[in-house]
Amino acid sequence: MSQKKFALALHGGAGTILPSSMTPEKEKAYREALEEALESGWKILESGGSALDAVEASVMSLEDCPLFNAGRGAVFTHEGKNEMDAAIMEGRGLDAGAVAMCTGIKNPVKLARLVMEKTDHVLLAGPGADRFAAEMGMERMPDSYFYDEYRWQQWQSVKESDRMMLDHQSDDRKFGTVGAVALDREGNLAAATSTGGMTNKKYGRIGDSPIIGAGTYANNLTCAISCTGSGEYFIRTNTAFHVHALMQYAGLSLQEACEKVVHEILPSIGGDGGLIGVDAAGNVCLPFNTEGMYRAFRDSDGKVEIAIYSGAHG
Ligand code: ASP
Repeated sequence: MSQKKFALALHGGAGTILPSSMTPEKEKAYREALEEALESGWKILESGGSALDAVEASVMSLEDCPLFNAGRGAVFTHEGKNEMDAAIMEGRGLDAGAVAMCTGIKNPVKLARLVMEKTDHVLLAGPGADRFAAEMGMERMPDSYFYDEYRWQQWQSVKESDRMMLDHQSDDRKFGTVGAVALDREGNLAAATSTGGMTNKKYGRIGDSPIIGAGTYANNLTCAISCTGSGEYFIRTNTAFHVHALMQYAGLSLQEACEKVVHEILPSIGGDGGLIGVDAAGNVCLPFNTEGMYRAFRDSDGKVEIAIYSGAHG
């Protein structure tokens, strides 16, 4: 039995998470949700399961929690709908699957995995993604499943404007896109990301999360990455692939590559957000250039962390 290191990290979105608007009860709820998601992926890794299964399980747990902007808690579009994006990728064969603008799906990350495993395609969007979900026998959830009074009000405050808002940009509740990255005992890496996108996003807007190389990327040679933040900047800088490329072609460590991308490249065009990364040796990096990022990680050396604000492992 190999004793190789394994690790799992996840995020629940980066943004202007102000300590002043956080109550002890809210903080407890977020921490518990992060802990539960960490546990769902961890038990898979610990029992010798794959990184792919672990990231899918962790992301599904976060999608089922209304605190985060993914699955059940997805934000509202300009038309008052919930349109979700998700992606999953494994680092051994560079297989990937993604969905964009899907509706009524309880767990978009599961649908992304089905795109990867059951089709010759990487990304299915809109009505096509929904049709594929039906063909796969996935249950459709009613609109009421995705209704959240707070998010509805969040949308009401910007719907007359052209403004598109990160879920965690408003003042009181802060949460966002979710993602997970993992290294398993076999040395395989995987990444997954799932989101409702940005509040008040317009017709047809697709963010970085389902774009392989922008919001999600995994390659056994280097790392697995899942991003969160204003997606347009992440698409323009190929954020997730950029970390991989700096490691592979410039010889940077995970930490150096993440810092360059999050603290130099993204800010150089005004990009706000963060990412989570794990490398092929099991090192974890969770940098962000915002006030905070909901995040957690655990590794087989016994390190565990659940954090929201800056200061730890940033
Ligand atoms: N990156 C996501 C998007 O632009 C938003 C987020 O991270 O909350 O769709």
